[in-house]
Amino acid sequence: MGNIRDGSSRIGKPSRALGKHWKLSSERKEQLSLFMMGDKNPMFGKRTKGFTGHIHSKESREKISKSNTGKPCPERGRPRTTEQRLALKTLYKGMNNPNWRGGVSTLSASIRWLDEYRIWRWQIYKRDRYSCINCGYRSKGKQDIIADHIKPFSIILKENNIKTLEQATECSELWDLSNGRTLCKPCDKLLGWKYRKKKLS
Ligand SMILES: [Zn+2]
Repeated sequence: MGNIRDGSSRIGKPSRALGKHWKLSSERKEQLSLFMMGDKNPMFGKRTKGFTGHIHSKESREKISKSNTGKPCPERGRPRTTEQRLALKTLYKGMNNPNWRGGVSTLSASIRWLDEYRIWRWQIYKRDRYSCINCGYRSKGKQDIIADHIKPFSIILKENNIKTLEQATECSELWDLSNGRTLCKPCDKLLGWKYRKKKLS
């Protein structure tokens, strides 16, 4: 059982010999095309239009419907229209979203949307002249640099026991400019908190 030689281990896997991997030499292709030309072709003289314009009877329509029930829609994977996307967005917002976790992430996420946070970030960028303090990379466009909290955001929140947005606004440690630094994206990966946290654990 499971022996490589009996082929059972290859069940469900694509065959190696056929399909995509099977290539014809150009010589052989030419040979084949000559061989299949004109009346030698099995499709020669046959109608290829098939069912075009044919109307299915009620019974056959029912049969088709039955056999297609439960199968994926052929339009699956087709990009959604703007209206469809908007409708889904409102439908699955907040509590209606299956990923809703009861508002746990809202505090630290909401702080990032505060004006204080925007101002803090802007002041850090300005002080560091929009350049990465580690490698000197100067920002060339949108979102290629980040303002990093040297002492992590989450720890400041925990230590100061911040539970609401008002408390966050009043916490001076959170908005201390000396705790901020500008990093480019690659340096953030090397020095940022996410990386340090991984290294610690
Ligand atoms: Zn950098």
